[in-house]
Amino acid sequence: MISAIRPLVAGNWKMNGTNASLNELMQIGHGFMSGLDAETEALICLPATLLSHGAEILSRTPVKAGGQDCHWQPAGAHTGDISAEMLKDAGASHVIVGHSERRTDHGETDSIVLMKAEAAWRAGLVAIVCIGETRAEREIGATLEILSRQIAGSVPAAATHTTVIVAYEPVWAIGTGLTPTIDDIAAMHAAIRDRIPRGTRILYGGSVNPKNAAEILVLDEVDGALVGGASLKADDFWAIAQAAG
Ligand code: PEP
Repeated sequence: MISAIRPLVAGNWKMNGTNASLNELMQIGHGFMSGLDAETEALICLPATLLSHGAEILSRTPVKAGGQDCHWQPAGAHTGDISAEMLKDAGASHVIVGHSERRTDHGETDSIVLMKAEAAWRAGLVAIVCIGETRAEREIGATLEILSRQIAGSVPAAATHTTVIVAYEPVWAIGTGLTPTIDDIAAMHAAIRDRIPRGTRILYGGSVNPKNAAEILVLDEVDGALVGGASLKADDFWAIAQAAG
């Protein structure tokens, strides 16, 4: 990792967790109180139903709480949606926007993701903008073209390293146990870095686990990880965070 950029290990609990899971969240927070390299930042992006209570639990620890999506409007007639301002009010510091599951399940386009990233910024949240190619796009050699288009379309032009983080998540690697080769990850991160503001953190996401974290997180161009499944267990998340330090 480039030493000037503080690594971030961010968990994405997706649609997992009820009040019964807050005990595991407490374990995650407490784990970080005893000895994580102070240079590493940690975050758990919670389901909206757990955010308020979860953020309160994490506020007594170095781990931050985040949301997984937001609407682009601050308030209004959008049944079932949640604004960035609401997430902030509930205790979030960050919000994921443009996760591939949102792009696929909810038809989110780059321009919608851009509005969400700008809304996050307006509300005082850091936006974690997800980009990544599908397997089919990769197989026809279109990965760089897709990443360039997603960056141009969904990362705000005025973004700075304090308002936006980019997460490179190959869609085919999410939740599958598959990962690109280490050389591929390095090459894609270098290409992304050439296309975004200087100093912006680039996280790798896609089947990161305690076994593969060290070889991924040691790469110069990787500034941390966005972790799905392995963030649900305190021991696994902690082991990944240690690999980032
Ligand atoms: C994710 O949800 O962003 C993710 C990378 O999931 P997983 O780690 O389970 O592949």
